[in-house]
Amino acid sequence: MTHSLNTPASPKASLSLPADRNLDDRSRRARLEPMSVLPLGDSLYEIESGAGHTYLVDMDAARCTCPDHVFRDARCKHIRRIAIEITEGRVPPPGRRAVVCHDCERSVFVDEDAPGPFYCEDHTLYPGDAVLDRETEDRLTVVDVSDRRADSVRIQSAGCSVAEYGTNENYDPDVPVVGAVYPHARVARNGVVPDSLKVYVFPRTRLQKVSVSSDETFAASRFRSETESESEPESQTRSRSRSRSRSRSRTERTERSAQS
Ligand SMILES: [Zn+2]
Ligand SMILES: [Zn+2]
Repeated sequence: MTHSLNTPASPKASLSLPADRNLDDRSRRARLEPMSVLPLGDSLYEIESGAGHTYLVDMDAARCTCPDHVFRDARCKHIRRIAIEITEGRVPPPGRRAVVCHDCERSVFVDEDAPGPFYCEDHTLYPGDAVLDRETEDRLTVVDVSDRRADSVRIQSAGCSVAEYGTNENYDPDVPVVGAVYPHARVARNGVVPDSLKVYVFPRTRLQKVSVSSDETFAASRFRSETESESEPESQTRSRSRSRSRSRSRTERTERSAQS
């Protein structure tokens, strides 16, 4: 009897299905082809292919205006490429935009509706940081970073707002205020004398962050360790809201003392 022993297996069944060639191809091209991406906001990106075609991509909706997406409903190479660029930090994700640090050329991603000025991590101010007053070149130590605008904080003794005060007129009135102390006022023979700590309020952009050289760090590091010992390490958000509530009392104190 001739039976199944010699029956060849079905060639169709014996072959595993080829991987979707288009899929692999799209992934490869998404990564390797030259393209340029321009974030437009609202999760929209303009992408120019190497061939010079320009398409619009909505990343939230995962839609693209290219034929591959429109006619084949594919997750095209443009959507893939933008996803890669976002993941690798070269393009801001939806809801964020790229801005340049106020004090250097570095690019940072911020919330789309966040007000400026913007600073990179190296130029962001925290309590304890040393700063230079751009007007007088005095060195001060930051005690508070507020989110109140310079034109909304009053210096009572001067009868005007921080923004209107003297040489502060050279700086934008809508920037946040920063409270700072002069280092020499903070440390007496017996240690820190709180009453001698006059807090002066400046528009943020008037102050330039400086790296403190080792022989000058005593006062700043001392202040920093005091600040940090107040509580356990915490998230930036919490520390921000904490400094916000503290900034109010500092501001009140400042309003009673004249700005030099
Ligand atoms: Zn596309
Ligand atoms: Zn910077």
